[in-house]
Amino acid sequence: MVDRNSFEFPKHIREGNEASYYMTGQETLKQLGSRPDLAEELEPYISQENYKRLGEEEFQSSEEYKRLVSRIDNLGDKNQKTNLEWQKNLPAWGDKIKQYIRNIGADINDEEFNKRIENVQMHCLDLYRFWANVAKHDVGADSGGFYSSNLHLMFYRLPKNPEFSKLPQELQLENVKETLLHELLHAAAAQNRWIYFNEKKEGGRIFRGMKRRRGGISTCPSDRQSKDRLNLLDEGITQKMVADILPKILSVANEQETGILIEGAKKIYSNETKVVEALTKKVGWPVFVDAYFNEGALLKLDREVKKQFGMTLREISDDMDLEKKGKGKGCGYDDLINKLSAS
Ligand SMILES: [Zn+2]
Repeated sequence: MVDRNSFEFPKHIREGNEASYYMTGQETLKQLGSRPDLAEELEPYISQENYKRLGEEEFQSSEEYKRLVSRIDNLGDKNQKTNLEWQKNLPAWGDKIKQYIRNIGADINDEEFNKRIENVQMHCLDLYRFWANVAKHDVGADSGGFYSSNLHLMFYRLPKNPEFSKLPQELQLENVKETLLHELLHAAAAQNRWIYFNEKKEGGRIFRGMKRRRGGISTCPSDRQSKDRLNLLDEGITQKMVADILPKILSVANEQETGILIEGAKKIYSNETKVVEALTKKVGWPVFVDAYFNEGALLKLDREVKKQFGMTLREISDDMDLEKKGKGKGCGYDDLINKLSAS
């Protein structure tokens, strides 16, 4: 998932305060306490009853609260080690992505691609700190991770308490690679940003903030009111690549385990992927991948799609948004897919 609320830096940065994503166990709980609406997200990990009391002084001096703090601190230390190990893997994973792009016959500029991958920072958050950061930095997040194009930073969650996961314990850590690969693809995609300035009274301009202008095939207009375009289609393309590339970066014991993780990956953005599949019946997949990674190639994709389906990417995107709005989260885009198949 790509950042959505990135029109400006978060308030505390604009006001000149330091931005820090590190939080002690205690601060984590303080941030969570400020957002009672997130209680459900932490449900089995902090009981609803305790969640409501996070802001209460009496609860903060209880043994229960101290146990929560030390649990969060221990988890953070452990996850930090995993994060450092994985950060070292990024260039190798980047190579797998490049190989894939070349193997399917799409184009990539080596230097440009390496630069994007080398500079991306990874930041792992346990479930508690993930939501505490959502509260503190006011970013939208309803997935296992997100990529901030402003910060060129990937956030992701590391496994929660094993007893709440359906996956076998030995696969839980491996399973996070699905999220990492997804966010890494966003980070490696073609990018462009709007930069905003304030006019100074005495002349000249001061930097005010940035916003994503282009990420993969999705584009954002410069004004506040207009909505982002092609986001859902962009997620479909991203996840189709994840399913293809994931086996190359997994280190699991056998094919059966690989199968379990790939099946899981295919459930994410599965309906968006179906729209992409419908489009690739007439427009070659490499044309999509080219458009995703290369700044100039988006126009070609748009032209081909229009030629084959009589619709522009923007019209397809508007249809997806409308259908999703009308039918909710589980929307399968059946109307659109029927239309595309009939053309
Ligand atoms: Zn995404």
